[in-house]
Amino acid sequence: MKSLGTKINKIPEIVNLLQDNDLKKLGFLANEKRREFHPDNAPVTFVVDRNINYTNVCSCNCRFCAFSKDKNDPEAYMLDYEIIKHKTDELIKAEGTQLLLQGGLNSDIPLEYYTGMLKNLRKDYPELTIHAFSPAELVFIAENNNLSVKELLEEFIKCGLSSIPGGGAEILCDEVRSKLSPGKIFSQKWLEVMEIAHHLGLKTTATMVFGFGEDARFIAEHLLKILELQEKTGGFTAFIPWTFAPWNKFTGLSKNLNNTAFDYLKILALSRLILDNIVNIQVSWITQGLNIAQIALKFGANDFGGTMLEENVVKAAGVYNNTCADEIIDHIQKAGFIAAQRDTHYKIIKTF
Ligand code: SF4
Repeated sequence: MKSLGTKINKIPEIVNLLQDNDLKKLGFLANEKRREFHPDNAPVTFVVDRNINYTNVCSCNCRFCAFSKDKNDPEAYMLDYEIIKHKTDELIKAEGTQLLLQGGLNSDIPLEYYTGMLKNLRKDYPELTIHAFSPAELVFIAENNNLSVKELLEEFIKCGLSSIPGGGAEILCDEVRSKLSPGKIFSQKWLEVMEIAHHLGLKTTATMVFGFGEDARFIAEHLLKILELQEKTGGFTAFIPWTFAPWNKFTGLSKNLNNTAFDYLKILALSRLILDNIVNIQVSWITQGLNIAQIALKFGANDFGGTMLEENVVKAAGVYNNTCADEIIDHIQKAGFIAAQRDTHYKIIKTF
C-alpha cells in the first residue's frame, strides 16, 4: 500500500488495491484523504432535488436498463410541460433547488421540445438549477438535428441549462460498453462531451456504474480517464460511483457480480484515493440504502447526493430506496457529522 500523499495513477497498482480485500485499511486511507478536502468539522452535504424523466422511450437498448420502453409499448410516455411544471412546483414546495432532467433517446422528440422545456422552466423558476441531459442524450439530440454538441449546448445554455449530470458513463472502457450498451456512445465520446461542456463553463458530475462482473482493470481505466480529464478541465464537481442492480432480463456479465456492500465500500474508498483532483465524492443511498450510505461517510464520501423526490431508473430494476431530507440529516448527524443542505455548486444553503 502506498503511503498517504503518493499519487496512485497506474493500472496495475489500482488493480492490486482492488484485489486486496483489506477493506479496513482502504477505508482508513480514504477517510484520511477525505479529511484533506473536508475536515471532520466540515458539513456533510446534500441537495434537495427531483429527477424528472421526460420520456422513457429509448432506442438504445442498453442490456442493463429496466427503464426504457419501445415507442409502441403501452407504458411508453413523453411528458408535456404542464406535468413537468406540476412536478417542479412540488420540488419548489419542498425547498428544492435542483431539477435533474433526463430521458431516453427518443427520435420522435423535436428540438423545440427541449428548448421549449428549458425556456419555460427558466421563465417559471428563475432561481432553479436545471441539471439536465447526460452526454448520450446530448450526442443523440445533436445528431438528430444536424448540430454539433457544442452548438447544441450553446443553444441549451441560452435557453436556461445550468449544468450537466454525469450519467451514462457506466464503465468508460469500450470492451465493457460493447457488451453492456453497444448502441450507446463509447467512452471517448462521453469524455469529449464533458470536455466541451467544461470549456463552455458548465460544471458537471462524473459517475461510474460497476458491479456487472467486469474485470478490475476496467474500473482502474475508468478512474484514470476521469482523473485525466479533470486534470485538463477542472469541470467535475463530484464523482458518484454506484452499483449495478440486476433485473430479470439482465443479471450481469458473469456470475461473480462485484456489487455487494463490500465491493461498493472498497471501490468508493479507492475512488476517493485516486481522484485527488475532485473535491466531492457522493454516496449512493439509492442503490445501497441509507445505512450503507451512512457508513460510506467513513470510506471517503462527503456528500449524500440528492433527496430525489422522484427516481424511476433504479426503481425499474426492482431496487427501491426512498428517503427525505429529515432522514438524510438524521443519518449524517448520527455518523458524527454536521449536516447541511447545499446547492448544485456545493454552496451551503442551510446547516442543521
Ligand atoms: S440506460 Fe439510458 S440510453 Fe440506455 S436504454 Fe436505458 S434509457 Fe436508453
